[in-house]
Amino acid sequence: MATPIANRVCVVGGTHGNEITGVNLLAHWQAQRLVEQFESLDLKFLLANPRAVKDNKRYIDVDLNRCFRLQDLNNPNLPGYERSRACEINKLLGPKGRAKTDFIIDLHTSTANMRTNIVLIKHDAFHLQLAAHLQRVLPDVVVTSEAELMPDHHFLCSIAERGLVIEVGPVAQGALDFRVLKATQDATLACLDFYQRWIRGETFACEGELEVMSYFDKVYFPRDDRGHMTACIAPELLYQDYAPINPGDPLFVDFAGKPMAYEGEPAHLAFINEAAYYDQGIAACLCRPKKLPLTPLESPWQKQ
Ligand SMILES: [Zn+2]
Repeated sequence: MATPIANRVCVVGGTHGNEITGVNLLAHWQAQRLVEQFESLDLKFLLANPRAVKDNKRYIDVDLNRCFRLQDLNNPNLPGYERSRACEINKLLGPKGRAKTDFIIDLHTSTANMRTNIVLIKHDAFHLQLAAHLQRVLPDVVVTSEAELMPDHHFLCSIAERGLVIEVGPVAQGALDFRVLKATQDATLACLDFYQRWIRGETFACEGELEVMSYFDKVYFPRDDRGHMTACIAPELLYQDYAPINPGDPLFVDFAGKPMAYEGEPAHLAFINEAAYYDQGIAACLCRPKKLPLTPLESPWQKQ
């Protein structure tokens, strides 16, 4: 077989410094020589935000996983550690638009019960067939989509032509939970296996439709005139991610115990009570299921 094309893959961890599942898995896979299990891949690992990992914080100055829009990567004057780190990563793996990396897998965790959440930022045959394949071979996979939210995406994984986020929860920030670690490892290995089989010439042709949860809005914690929070998420909603919510359903409970109803349109909730979003006041994200038609993914060899 000739030299495989499009075989440069990078698995990224520690994009958020307090999501340590990926950080520990990278070290584990390097110690275990995982690269030797994927002979057709040029497989690399990257610790994305080492300073935030060291400080056990999500970020130092700004959220690194919001720094990868082309217009920001091309602006050297933006302040903050993560802005310069994003430019370094773009040099290492990119540059975005003509990247020397073909596929990026970025590992995250959530404090919400997001299960094995496969986050798509593109809806082409490659990404949809990969997500459908993961749903078939792994338990507990939910596919969510950020693809419609922005044309020039700000995620790290947008540097390469192909990329996704694997975000598993629930696990506390800065902590490990074997169930979350195993689900993250299984999903990553399944992605690498799919990718290696694809560049070796396999066609993937799951048929029908793929259901993805598509985000369209957020709900914010209630606050008083001075900006202080006045309510918590209703206890019955905790860890009920992806469940439907309808107008009149309890959403919050104030500090005296009085329930407060949801007033928006019928939706599903995700990232319920996500600790990483408290700094923005976000209580949960709103999404709705959407069915995307699956088309076969031809082998990359057929395109040459
Ligand atoms: Zn994260």
